[in-house]
Amino acid sequence: MIETVNATEKNIALEERYGAHNYHPLPVVLAKGEGVFLWDVEGKRYYDFLSAYSAVNQGHCHPAIIKAFTEQAHTLTLTSRAFYNDKLGETEKYLCEYFGYDKVLMMNSGAEANETAIKLARKWGYTKKGIPTDRAVIVAAERNFHGRTLGIISASTDPDARNNFGPFMPGYHIVPYDNLQALEDALQNPNVCGLWLEPIQGEAGVYVPQEGYLKAAQELCKKHNVILMMDEIQTGIGRTGKLLASDHEGVHPDMLILGKALSGGTYPVSAVLTNDEIMLTIKPGEHGSTFGGNPMACAVAVAALEVIKNEKLAENADRLGKLFRERMQQLVNKSSLATLVRGKGLLNAIIIKPTKDGKTAWDVCVRLKENGLLAKPTHGDIIRFAPPLVITEAQIQECCDIIEYTIQSFE
Ligand code: PLP
Repeated sequence: MIETVNATEKNIALEERYGAHNYHPLPVVLAKGEGVFLWDVEGKRYYDFLSAYSAVNQGHCHPAIIKAFTEQAHTLTLTSRAFYNDKLGETEKYLCEYFGYDKVLMMNSGAEANETAIKLARKWGYTKKGIPTDRAVIVAAERNFHGRTLGIISASTDPDARNNFGPFMPGYHIVPYDNLQALEDALQNPNVCGLWLEPIQGEAGVYVPQEGYLKAAQELCKKHNVILMMDEIQTGIGRTGKLLASDHEGVHPDMLILGKALSGGTYPVSAVLTNDEIMLTIKPGEHGSTFGGNPMACAVAVAALEVIKNEKLAENADRLGKLFRERMQQLVNKSSLATLVRGKGLLNAIIIKPTKDGKTAWDVCVRLKENGLLAKPTHGDIIRFAPPLVITEAQIQECCDIIEYTIQSFE
Protein backbone atom coordinates (compact mmCIF):
# COMPACT_ATOMS: atom_id res chain seq x y z
CA MET A 1 0.00 0.00 0.00
CA ILE A 2 1.45 3.37 -1.03
CA GLU A 3 0.87 6.09 1.59
CA THR A 4 -0.03 9.36 -0.15
CA VAL A 5 -0.84 12.90 0.84
CA ASN A 6 -2.12 14.54 -2.34
CA ALA A 7 -2.62 13.85 -6.05
CA THR A 8 0.90 15.04 -6.90
CA GLU A 9 2.58 12.76 -4.42
CA LYS A 10 0.27 9.88 -5.30
CA ASN A 11 1.15 10.01 -9.00
CA ILE A 12 4.86 10.47 -8.40
CA ALA A 13 4.85 7.52 -6.00
CA LEU A 14 3.07 5.32 -8.56
CA GLU A 15 5.59 6.08 -11.28
CA GLU A 16 8.41 5.56 -8.85
CA ARG A 17 7.04 2.22 -7.72
CA TYR A 18 5.82 0.74 -11.02
CA GLY A 19 7.63 2.58 -13.81
CA ALA A 20 11.16 2.17 -15.09
CA HIS A 21 13.46 4.84 -13.72
CA ASN A 22 14.72 5.98 -17.12
CA TYR A 23 13.77 9.65 -16.58
CA HIS A 24 14.31 12.12 -13.76
CA PRO A 25 11.27 14.44 -13.95
CA LEU A 26 10.68 17.67 -12.06
CA PRO A 27 8.17 17.10 -9.24
CA VAL A 28 5.06 18.28 -11.09
CA VAL A 29 2.17 16.09 -12.28
CA LEU A 30 0.40 17.43 -15.34
CA ALA A 31 -3.23 16.80 -16.11
CA LYS A 32 -4.31 19.28 -18.78
CA GLY A 33 -2.91 21.38 -21.61
CA GLU A 34 -4.16 24.17 -23.83
CA GLY A 35 -2.05 26.34 -26.09
CA VAL A 36 1.04 27.49 -24.20
CA PHE A 37 -0.34 26.37 -20.85
CA LEU A 38 -0.27 23.20 -18.76
CA TRP A 39 -2.17 22.56 -15.53
CA ASP A 40 -1.10 20.20 -12.79
CA VAL A 41 -3.35 17.85 -10.82
CA GLU A 42 -3.77 20.50 -8.14
CA GLY A 43 -5.10 22.96 -10.74
CA LYS A 44 -2.02 25.21 -10.85
CA ARG A 45 -1.29 26.70 -14.29
CA TYR A 46 2.17 26.84 -15.91
CA TYR A 47 3.75 28.18 -19.06
CA ASP A 48 5.18 25.17 -20.91
CA PHE A 49 8.76 26.03 -21.91
CA LEU A 50 9.69 22.55 -23.11
CA SER A 51 6.78 21.75 -25.48
CA ALA A 52 7.36 18.00 -25.07
CA TYR A 53 10.88 18.44 -26.48
CA SER A 54 9.48 20.54 -29.36
CA ALA A 55 6.69 18.13 -30.31
CA VAL A 56 3.96 20.59 -29.36
CA ASN A 57 5.02 23.52 -31.54
CA GLN A 58 1.37 24.16 -32.45
CA GLY A 59 0.38 24.41 -28.75
CA HIS A 60 -1.34 21.83 -26.58
CA CYS A 61 -4.57 20.34 -27.92
CA HIS A 62 -4.73 22.62 -30.93
CA PRO A 63 -8.44 22.56 -31.95
CA ALA A 64 -7.78 21.98 -35.69
CA ILE A 65 -5.43 19.07 -35.00
CA ILE A 66 -7.74 17.55 -32.40
CA LYS A 67 -10.64 17.86 -34.86
CA ALA A 68 -8.71 15.97 -37.55
CA PHE A 69 -7.60 13.43 -34.95
CA THR A 70 -11.08 12.71 -33.57
CA GLU A 71 -12.77 12.67 -36.98
CA GLN A 72 -10.25 10.16 -38.26
CA ALA A 73 -10.50 8.12 -35.05
CA HIS A 74 -14.22 7.69 -35.70
CA THR A 75 -13.63 6.67 -39.32
CA LEU A 76 -10.58 4.47 -39.74
CA THR A 77 -7.51 4.10 -37.54
CA LEU A 78 -5.32 1.34 -38.97
CA THR A 79 -5.45 -0.97 -41.96
CA SER A 80 -1.88 -2.27 -42.29
CA ARG A 81 0.27 -1.71 -45.32
CA ALA A 82 -0.90 -5.01 -46.77
CA PHE A 83 -3.63 -2.87 -48.39
CA TYR A 84 -3.97 0.66 -49.72
CA ASN A 85 -5.99 3.22 -47.78
CA ASP A 86 -7.60 6.51 -48.79
CA LYS A 87 -5.33 8.70 -46.62
CA LEU A 88 -1.74 7.65 -47.26
CA GLY A 89 -1.32 8.65 -50.89
CA GLU A 90 -2.82 12.11 -50.48
CA THR A 91 -0.75 12.68 -47.34
CA GLU A 92 2.45 11.59 -49.07
CA LYS A 93 1.69 14.04 -51.89
CA TYR A 94 1.03 16.79 -49.33
CA LEU A 95 4.29 16.11 -47.45
CA CYS A 96 6.39 15.94 -50.63
CA GLU A 97 4.97 19.22 -51.92
CA TYR A 98 5.19 20.92 -48.53
CA PHE A 99 8.90 20.14 -48.09
CA GLY A 100 9.95 19.87 -51.75
CA TYR A 101 10.93 16.20 -52.13
CA ASP A 102 10.06 13.37 -54.55
CA LYS A 103 9.09 10.79 -51.99
CA VAL A 104 8.38 10.20 -48.32
CA LEU A 105 8.49 7.19 -46.01
CA MET A 106 6.41 7.58 -42.87
CA MET A 107 7.30 5.98 -39.55
CA ASN A 108 6.30 6.67 -35.93
CA SER A 109 9.04 7.77 -33.54
CA GLY A 110 11.97 9.99 -34.37
CA ALA A 111 14.36 7.12 -33.69
CA GLU A 112 12.60 4.98 -36.29
CA ALA A 113 12.86 7.76 -38.85
CA ASN A 114 16.60 7.97 -38.18
CA GLU A 115 16.95 4.19 -38.45
CA THR A 116 15.13 4.44 -41.78
CA ALA A 117 17.52 7.16 -42.92
CA ILE A 118 20.55 5.04 -41.99
CA LYS A 119 19.17 2.06 -43.90
CA LEU A 120 18.40 4.19 -46.94
CA ALA A 121 21.86 5.77 -46.92
CA ARG A 122 23.54 2.36 -46.66
CA LYS A 123 21.32 0.83 -49.34
CA TRP A 124 22.09 3.73 -51.67
CA GLY A 125 25.77 3.42 -50.82
CA TYR A 126 25.89 -0.22 -51.91
CA THR A 127 23.50 -0.14 -54.85
CA LYS A 128 24.28 3.27 -56.37
CA LYS A 129 27.65 4.47 -55.11
CA GLY A 130 29.26 1.05 -55.38
CA ILE A 131 30.57 0.72 -51.83
CA PRO A 132 31.86 -2.84 -51.19
CA THR A 133 29.49 -5.05 -49.15
CA ASP A 134 29.34 -4.22 -45.43
CA ARG A 135 31.89 -1.43 -45.70
CA ALA A 136 29.52 1.58 -45.71
CA VAL A 137 30.34 4.40 -43.31
CA ILE A 138 28.08 7.13 -41.99
CA VAL A 139 29.77 10.25 -40.66
CA ALA A 140 28.08 11.63 -37.53
CA ALA A 141 28.92 14.45 -35.14
CA GLU A 142 30.19 14.46 -31.58
CA ARG A 143 27.46 15.31 -29.03
CA ASN A 144 24.77 14.15 -31.49
CA PHE A 145 21.35 13.06 -30.33
CA HIS A 146 19.29 11.03 -32.79
CA GLY A 147 17.32 8.70 -30.50
CA ARG A 148 17.70 5.62 -28.35
CA THR A 149 17.85 2.52 -30.53
CA LEU A 150 21.02 0.45 -30.58
CA GLY A 151 21.77 1.44 -34.18
CA ILE A 152 21.54 5.09 -33.17
CA ILE A 153 23.38 5.02 -29.85
CA SER A 154 26.20 3.24 -31.65
CA ALA A 155 26.96 6.70 -33.05
CA SER A 156 26.49 8.49 -29.73
CA THR A 157 29.36 10.07 -27.81
CA ASP A 158 27.31 10.48 -24.63
CA PRO A 159 28.42 7.94 -21.98
CA ASP A 160 24.93 7.95 -20.39
CA ALA A 161 23.41 6.85 -23.70
CA ARG A 162 25.97 4.06 -24.22
CA ASN A 163 27.23 2.65 -20.92
CA ASN A 164 26.63 -1.11 -20.68
CA PHE A 165 24.55 -1.25 -23.85
CA GLY A 166 27.28 -2.61 -26.13
CA PRO A 167 28.29 -4.26 -28.36
CA PHE A 168 27.62 -1.47 -30.81
CA MET A 169 26.89 -1.32 -34.51
CA PRO A 170 29.96 -0.58 -36.62
CA GLY A 171 30.04 1.73 -39.63
CA TYR A 172 30.26 5.19 -38.06
CA HIS A 173 32.97 7.80 -38.19
CA ILE A 174 32.48 10.50 -35.56
CA VAL A 175 33.78 14.01 -36.21
CA PRO A 176 33.66 17.14 -34.05
CA TYR A 177 30.52 19.21 -34.75
CA ASP A 178 30.95 22.52 -36.55
CA ASN A 179 34.44 21.63 -37.78
CA LEU A 180 34.77 21.70 -41.56
CA GLN A 181 38.36 20.48 -41.70
CA ALA A 182 37.48 17.33 -39.74
CA LEU A 183 34.52 16.81 -42.05
CA GLU A 184 36.56 17.26 -45.19
CA ASP A 185 39.09 14.71 -43.87
CA ALA A 186 36.37 12.18 -43.01
CA LEU A 187 34.72 12.46 -46.41
CA GLN A 188 37.95 11.43 -48.16
CA ASN A 189 36.97 7.84 -47.39
CA PRO A 190 35.22 6.55 -50.54
CA ASN A 191 33.07 4.22 -48.41
CA VAL A 192 31.20 7.11 -46.79
CA CYS A 193 27.56 7.01 -47.88
CA GLY A 194 26.03 9.62 -45.59
CA LEU A 195 26.67 12.64 -43.40
CA TRP A 196 24.19 12.63 -40.53
CA LEU A 197 23.70 15.97 -38.79
CA GLU A 198 21.40 18.04 -36.64
CA PRO A 199 21.36 21.62 -37.97
CA ILE A 200 21.38 22.75 -34.32
CA GLN A 201 22.24 20.21 -31.63
CA GLY A 202 19.14 20.42 -29.44
CA GLU A 203 19.48 17.68 -26.84
CA ALA A 204 23.18 18.41 -26.41
CA GLY A 205 22.18 21.86 -25.15
CA VAL A 206 21.22 23.97 -28.18
CA TYR A 207 24.58 24.26 -29.93
CA VAL A 208 24.20 26.49 -32.97
CA PRO A 209 26.98 25.98 -35.56
CA GLN A 210 28.78 28.92 -37.15
CA GLU A 211 26.93 30.48 -40.02
CA GLY A 212 27.97 28.75 -43.22
CA TYR A 213 28.72 25.36 -41.65
CA LEU A 214 25.65 23.62 -43.07
CA LYS A 215 26.11 25.14 -46.51
CA ALA A 216 29.77 24.14 -46.63
CA ALA A 217 28.87 20.65 -45.35
CA GLN A 218 26.38 20.33 -48.17
CA GLU A 219 29.02 21.33 -50.72
CA LEU A 220 31.47 18.79 -49.30
CA CYS A 221 28.79 16.11 -49.56
CA LYS A 222 28.17 16.99 -53.20
CA LYS A 223 31.90 16.95 -53.94
CA HIS A 224 32.35 13.49 -52.41
CA ASN A 225 29.05 11.96 -53.57
CA VAL A 226 27.72 11.59 -50.02
CA ILE A 227 24.09 11.91 -48.90
CA LEU A 228 23.41 14.81 -46.53
CA MET A 229 20.99 13.39 -43.95
CA MET A 230 19.53 16.18 -41.85
CA ASP A 231 17.83 15.29 -38.58
CA GLU A 232 15.29 18.10 -38.15
CA ILE A 233 13.20 16.16 -35.66
CA GLN A 234 13.68 18.83 -33.00
CA THR A 235 14.64 21.85 -35.09
CA GLY A 236 12.07 21.45 -37.87
CA ILE A 237 8.46 22.51 -38.30
CA GLY A 238 8.89 26.18 -37.44
CA ARG A 239 10.86 25.80 -34.21
CA THR A 240 13.92 27.87 -35.15
CA GLY A 241 12.11 30.66 -36.99
CA LYS A 242 12.01 29.02 -40.43
CA LEU A 243 10.09 25.95 -41.54
CA LEU A 244 13.39 24.03 -41.26
CA ALA A 245 16.59 25.09 -39.53
CA SER A 246 18.43 24.18 -42.77
CA ASP A 247 16.48 27.00 -44.46
CA HIS A 248 18.55 29.57 -42.52
CA GLU A 249 21.44 28.67 -44.83
CA GLY A 250 19.39 27.83 -47.91
CA VAL A 251 20.33 24.16 -47.57
CA HIS A 252 18.00 21.53 -49.02
CA PRO A 253 19.31 18.25 -47.57
CA ASP A 254 19.29 15.11 -49.72
CA MET A 255 17.42 13.43 -46.92
CA LEU A 256 15.16 15.22 -44.46
CA ILE A 257 14.26 13.47 -41.18
CA LEU A 258 11.19 14.73 -39.31
CA GLY A 259 9.20 13.72 -36.22
CA LYS A 260 7.84 15.34 -33.07
CA ALA A 261 5.79 18.40 -34.20
CA LEU A 262 4.82 16.60 -37.40
CA SER A 263 1.82 15.50 -35.34
CA GLY A 264 1.52 18.58 -33.16
CA GLY A 265 2.15 16.34 -30.17
CA THR A 266 -0.96 14.22 -30.58
CA TYR A 267 0.46 10.98 -31.91
CA PRO A 268 3.87 9.58 -32.90
CA VAL A 269 4.42 10.50 -36.55
CA SER A 270 7.82 10.67 -38.21
CA ALA A 271 9.02 10.73 -41.79
CA VAL A 272 12.01 10.60 -44.08
CA LEU A 273 11.84 12.62 -47.28
CA THR A 274 14.25 12.22 -50.16
CA ASN A 275 14.58 11.91 -53.94
CA ASP A 276 13.49 9.03 -56.15
CA GLU A 277 16.98 7.69 -56.61
CA ILE A 278 17.56 7.19 -52.90
CA MET A 279 14.05 6.18 -51.84
CA LEU A 280 13.56 3.60 -54.55
CA THR A 281 16.62 1.64 -53.47
CA ILE A 282 14.41 0.06 -50.79
CA LYS A 283 12.11 -2.58 -52.30
CA PRO A 284 8.95 -4.27 -50.98
CA GLY A 285 9.63 -6.34 -47.89
CA GLU A 286 12.92 -4.63 -47.07
CA HIS A 287 11.66 -2.08 -44.51
CA GLY A 288 8.43 -1.09 -42.81
CA SER A 289 6.34 -0.63 -39.68
CA THR A 290 2.86 -1.79 -38.67
CA PHE A 291 1.78 1.72 -37.73
CA GLY A 292 3.92 3.78 -40.13
CA GLY A 293 1.73 6.03 -42.28
CA ASN A 294 -1.55 4.84 -40.78
CA PRO A 295 -4.72 6.90 -41.39
CA MET A 296 -4.58 8.56 -37.95
CA ALA A 297 -0.98 9.62 -38.49
CA CYS A 298 -1.85 10.95 -41.94
CA ALA A 299 -4.80 12.99 -40.70
CA VAL A 300 -2.90 14.65 -37.85
CA ALA A 301 0.24 15.30 -39.90
CA VAL A 302 -1.64 17.26 -42.54
CA ALA A 303 -3.60 19.19 -39.90
CA ALA A 304 -0.42 19.91 -37.91
CA LEU A 305 1.40 21.29 -40.96
CA GLU A 306 -1.61 23.37 -42.02
CA VAL A 307 -1.55 25.04 -38.60
CA ILE A 308 2.14 25.91 -38.99
CA LYS A 309 1.45 27.60 -42.31
CA ASN A 310 -1.92 29.21 -41.56
CA GLU A 311 -0.85 30.67 -38.22
CA LYS A 312 2.59 31.72 -39.50
CA LEU A 313 4.24 29.98 -36.56
CA ALA A 314 7.76 30.01 -38.01
CA GLU A 315 7.52 33.79 -38.42
CA ASN A 316 6.24 34.10 -34.85
CA ALA A 317 9.14 31.95 -33.60
CA ASP A 318 11.61 34.15 -35.45
CA ARG A 319 10.25 37.43 -34.10
CA LEU A 320 9.65 36.33 -30.51
CA GLY A 321 12.88 34.35 -30.41
CA LYS A 322 14.84 37.55 -31.08
CA LEU A 323 12.93 39.33 -28.38
CA PHE A 324 13.52 36.46 -25.95
CA ARG A 325 17.29 36.37 -26.56
CA GLU A 326 17.52 40.16 -26.22
CA ARG A 327 15.81 39.99 -22.83
CA MET A 328 17.95 37.03 -21.74
CA GLN A 329 21.11 38.79 -22.90
CA GLN A 330 20.20 41.76 -20.68
CA LEU A 331 19.79 39.30 -17.82
CA VAL A 332 23.12 37.58 -18.57
CA ASN A 333 24.87 40.98 -18.64
CA LYS A 334 23.95 41.63 -15.01
CA SER A 335 23.79 38.07 -13.62
CA SER A 336 26.50 35.97 -11.99
CA LEU A 337 24.33 32.84 -12.34
CA ALA A 338 23.11 32.98 -15.95
CA THR A 339 26.30 33.27 -17.98
CA LEU A 340 25.29 32.77 -21.61
CA VAL A 341 22.26 32.64 -23.88
CA ARG A 342 22.20 30.99 -27.30
CA GLY A 343 19.68 29.66 -29.80
CA LYS A 344 17.59 30.38 -32.84
CA GLY A 345 13.89 31.16 -33.11
CA LEU A 346 12.19 29.68 -30.07
CA LEU A 347 14.84 27.01 -29.43
CA ASN A 348 17.11 28.63 -26.86
CA ALA A 349 19.22 27.79 -23.85
CA ILE A 350 20.90 29.59 -21.01
CA ILE A 351 23.95 28.35 -19.14
CA ILE A 352 23.82 28.35 -15.37
CA LYS A 353 26.97 28.66 -13.29
CA PRO A 354 26.38 26.90 -9.95
CA THR A 355 26.20 29.26 -6.95
CA LYS A 356 28.70 29.18 -4.09
CA ASP A 357 26.16 27.33 -1.94
CA GLY A 358 25.80 24.63 -4.60
CA LYS A 359 22.56 25.68 -6.32
CA THR A 360 22.42 24.39 -9.89
CA ALA A 361 20.27 24.54 -13.04
CA TRP A 362 18.03 21.91 -11.42
CA ASP A 363 17.28 24.26 -8.48
CA VAL A 364 16.57 27.08 -10.93
CA CYS A 365 14.07 24.84 -12.77
CA VAL A 366 12.37 23.83 -9.51
CA ARG A 367 11.96 27.51 -8.61
CA LEU A 368 10.79 28.36 -12.14
CA LYS A 369 8.12 25.71 -11.65
CA GLU A 370 7.07 27.29 -8.36
CA ASN A 371 6.84 30.59 -10.25
CA GLY A 372 4.64 29.06 -12.98
CA LEU A 373 7.05 28.15 -15.77
CA LEU A 374 8.16 24.63 -16.73
CA ALA A 375 11.62 24.02 -18.14
CA LYS A 376 14.13 21.23 -17.67
CA PRO A 377 17.88 21.28 -17.17
CA THR A 378 20.08 19.25 -19.46
CA HIS A 379 23.71 18.12 -19.01
CA GLY A 380 23.81 19.67 -15.54
CA ASP A 381 24.21 23.35 -16.32
CA ILE A 382 22.05 24.11 -19.36
CA ILE A 383 18.36 25.10 -19.34
CA ARG A 384 16.54 24.78 -22.65
CA PHE A 385 13.68 27.18 -23.31
CA ALA A 386 11.31 26.05 -26.07
CA PRO A 387 7.72 27.25 -25.62
CA PRO A 388 4.94 26.36 -28.07
CA LEU A 389 5.21 28.62 -31.12
CA VAL A 390 1.68 29.96 -30.57
CA ILE A 391 3.00 32.08 -27.68
CA THR A 392 2.20 35.80 -27.94
CA GLU A 393 4.49 38.77 -27.38
CA ALA A 394 2.78 39.69 -24.11
CA GLN A 395 3.15 36.12 -22.88
CA ILE A 396 6.82 35.92 -23.80
CA GLN A 397 7.47 39.20 -21.98
CA GLU A 398 5.73 37.81 -18.91
CA CYS A 399 7.82 34.62 -19.16
CA CYS A 400 11.03 36.68 -19.43
CA ASP A 401 9.94 38.47 -16.23
CA ILE A 402 9.44 35.12 -14.50
CA ILE A 403 12.86 33.82 -15.61
CA GLU A 404 14.51 37.10 -14.63
CA TYR A 405 13.16 37.31 -11.10
CA THR A 406 13.68 33.59 -10.55
CA ILE A 407 17.36 33.82 -11.50
CA GLN A 408 17.78 37.01 -9.49
CA SER A 409 16.29 35.30 -6.43
CA PHE A 410 19.46 33.13 -6.29
CA GLU A 411 21.93 36.03 -6.42
N1 PLP B 1 16.48 13.28 -33.25
C1 PLP B 1 16.50 14.41 -32.56
C2 PLP B 1 17.28 15.58 -33.10
C3 PLP B 1 15.83 14.52 -31.35
O1 PLP B 1 15.88 15.66 -30.66
C4 PLP B 1 15.11 13.39 -30.88
C5 PLP B 1 14.40 13.45 -29.58
O2 PLP B 1 14.63 14.26 -28.74
C6 PLP B 1 15.10 12.22 -31.63
C7 PLP B 1 15.79 12.20 -32.82
C8 PLP B 1 14.39 10.99 -31.16
O3 PLP B 1 13.01 11.09 -31.34
P1 PLP B 1 12.05 10.05 -30.59
O4 PLP B 1 12.18 10.31 -29.13
O5 PLP B 1 10.68 10.36 -31.12
O6 PLP B 1 12.51 8.67 -30.96
